[in-house]
Amino acid sequence: MLREFEDEMLTCTMCGFCRWVCPTLERRGWESFAPRGLVNIGFGLLKGKLRPTKALVDSVYSCTTCGRCVVKCPPQIKVRDIVLAIRATLFGSSVAPASIKSLLSSVARTGNIYGRTGRKISEDSSSLILFPGCNVKHKHPEILESSLRLLEHLGLRASVWGGTDCCGAPFVLGGAFDQFRTLARNNFGKLRSSRVVLPCPIGLQTLRVSYPMFLKEEPPLASHITEILSTRIGSLRFQETSETVTYHDPCYLARLMKVIEPPRKLLNSVPGIRLVEMADSKENTRCCGSGAGITQTYSKELSREIARERIEQARDVNADRIITSCPYCLDQLRAVSGALPVDDITVFLASKLQSS
Ligand code: SF4
Ligand code: SF4
Repeated sequence: MLREFEDEMLTCTMCGFCRWVCPTLERRGWESFAPRGLVNIGFGLLKGKLRPTKALVDSVYSCTTCGRCVVKCPPQIKVRDIVLAIRATLFGSSVAPASIKSLLSSVARTGNIYGRTGRKISEDSSSLILFPGCNVKHKHPEILESSLRLLEHLGLRASVWGGTDCCGAPFVLGGAFDQFRTLARNNFGKLRSSRVVLPCPIGLQTLRVSYPMFLKEEPPLASHITEILSTRIGSLRFQETSETVTYHDPCYLARLMKVIEPPRKLLNSVPGIRLVEMADSKENTRCCGSGAGITQTYSKELSREIARERIEQARDVNADRIITSCPYCLDQLRAVSGALPVDDITVFLASKLQSS
C-alpha cells in the first residue's frame, strides 16, 4: 500500500506550508507529528530505513486525518492517505496500539464500536435508507429520531438500516484494510441499489470514497442529511428564535466531502437566527480532535486539547450555541465546552419545527 505513494512522497519539497495548519503538531510540537514528518516516516518505512517503534506509532496514530494539510500543500500531497497506508503497515506489527486493536476487535465481534449486542432495527421496503452508524444508533438516538422527523415533515419516508451498524470506517482508519474490505463488501451488497441518507459525515465519506476505492465499484448513492433537507428548504417551517449560533464544520463533511452550504442554508432558514462564523470555517475548518473516533481512542488527552482550541474560537464570536452535523464532533466539543451548549443540527432543527 505504501508503495503506491512512493512517487508522491518524493514530490514533497519540505516547504513546510502544511505545518501551520496541523492541529496535532500545534499541540505536540515535534516535527515527527507534522504532516511532512509523517511523509518522511512513510518513506523511511517503505525504504526499510525506519523500523516500527512505539514513538513512530505515536506520531502516526496522533494524526486526526482532518485533511487540512492536504488543502495547504502546493503539490497537494495526499498526506491523509499516506498516514492510512502507514497505519496499515504498522497495524500488523507488535507495536500496534492496544487501544485501537481492542476497538477494532469490538467491531469485528459485534458490528459496532461500542461492543453492544442486541436489538436489530427491522428494515421495511422504502427506497430511501437512513444509515445511522454506530455513534448515532448507540449513543445519540435523538439524532436518528430528529432526522426521521425532519424527513417525514418533507413527506419523505425512510427506513432505518437494519444491517451491520458500522460503515467500516474504524477498520480503514485504524489500518485493518482486509477487515474493512470484508465489512464493506457485505454492506455494499445491500446498499448498492438504494438511496442512502446519513447523519454522520464519517459514514458518508466511507460510503462515497472508501467503498469505491477498496471495492473497485461505483459508490452507493449517498447523501448527508443536510444535503437532502436543504433541497426542500421551502417546505420546512420553523418557529422564530433570537439565538446567535455558530456552525462547526466537521472536517469530514466540509473539507473532505465539500458539503458547506447546505447546513448554513438550513440554519439561516430559521426566522430570527443569527449565524456567526468562527475564524476557521468552511473548507478551512479547524478539527475537533476526534479523528473519526481513532485519535479520541488512541489519546483522549490530545483529542481534548485540540477540541479546546475550537471552543475558544466559538467563544471569540460570542455564540450562544454551537451547532454541528457530526456525532463525533458533538461528543468532542461537548466534553470541553463547559456551559456553552453544543447541538447536532438535526436535533436543533427538529426542536424548532412548527407543529403542523
Ligand atoms: S506542504 Fe506538502 S510539499 Fe510542503 S512540506 Fe508539507 S507535505 Fe511537503
Ligand atoms: S491530516 Fe490533519 S492532523 Fe493529520 S497531518 Fe494533516 S493536518 Fe495534521
